[in-house]
Amino acid sequence: AAKADGGRQRRYSADLDDRTDEEARLGAELRTALDRGEFHLVYQPIVELPHGNVVAVESLVRWWHPERGYVRPDVFIPVAERTGLIVELGEWILRTACLQFADWWRRGVAPYRFGVNVSARQLAEPGFVDMVAAILAETGVHPARLIVEVTETAVFGGGAAVRAVHELNGLGIEIALDDFGTGHSSLGLLQTLPVSILKVDKSFIENVTMAGRHAVIATSLIQVANGLGLVAVAEGVETPEQAAELYRLGYRRAQGYHFGRPAMALPARTESHAA
Ligand code: C2E
Ligand code: CA
Ligand code: CA
Ligand code: CA
Repeated sequence: AAKADGGRQRRYSADLDDRTDEEARLGAELRTALDRGEFHLVYQPIVELPHGNVVAVESLVRWWHPERGYVRPDVFIPVAERTGLIVELGEWILRTACLQFADWWRRGVAPYRFGVNVSARQLAEPGFVDMVAAILAETGVHPARLIVEVTETAVFGGGAAVRAVHELNGLGIEIALDDFGTGHSSLGLLQTLPVSILKVDKSFIENVTMAGRHAVIATSLIQVANGLGLVAVAEGVETPEQAAELYRLGYRRAQGYHFGRPAMALPARTESHAA
């Protein structure tokens, strides 16, 4: 078998080498990018249905690479997790989002809350909760304004990540379960984790106006959320028809291109403008 498969085997490991080379390159470039300040944050509104007034924003990281252009977070976040750079990058993200929120607050234009994505690796890192508390104190942001978005997968195995979630909640920070329905053991987690927000993954939202499996799941998830006293946020809402149908199903929070794309925050107004 070894002989017959030799060609495929070699091709496979060559692909693997290419992939690990590319990953190593990206990993090294991420380090440089952080030092050179190539990252920035954008913010996407989370609105109340049906009127669409903004109740929160979610911060999303962007990387503008001098030659590659924008690199998608779906591509570089997993690499940053594997190299461990996510710990330092994640701290930069949290501080930047808190500074932005504090600035909005001072100018009287802050949304009610703001969400920051936190990866599995960050949650499990010793000292993570202390770091969060220190950044809130340093930026003067009240813990109740912050929503930490974690995925089901990040908190699945229990252990340090789960302890961190409890400690964050103990500080008064709200926890949102992200991409809800796509990870492990979603419903079981709701019994034990101090989660108050379910972000229903866009894969369940996109076909919500058509009869079928996805509409059934979107309907069930809002019932679970309402039954447990949790807030469900419909992710990836792109059309007014989806928004109307979600409202009819009982959703009261939504996020997606229909309401607003992720956008850079406006710079602080100067005194002369404000006057
Ligand atoms: P996520 O946390 O589920 O973020 C929502 C993603 O959906 C964002 O993609 C957003 O731009 C996109 N989106 C929003 N509305 C719509 C819509 O109506 N239609 C469609 N098709 N997409 C929509 P983005 O910014 O590319 O981020 C992808 C993922 O990368 C995020 O998924 C999150 O898992 C991760 N990520 C992004 N920023 C951060 C960060 O600061 N820290 C960490 N740890 N992960 C991040
Ligand atoms: Ca998120
Ligand atoms: Ca999500
Ligand atoms: Ca996602």
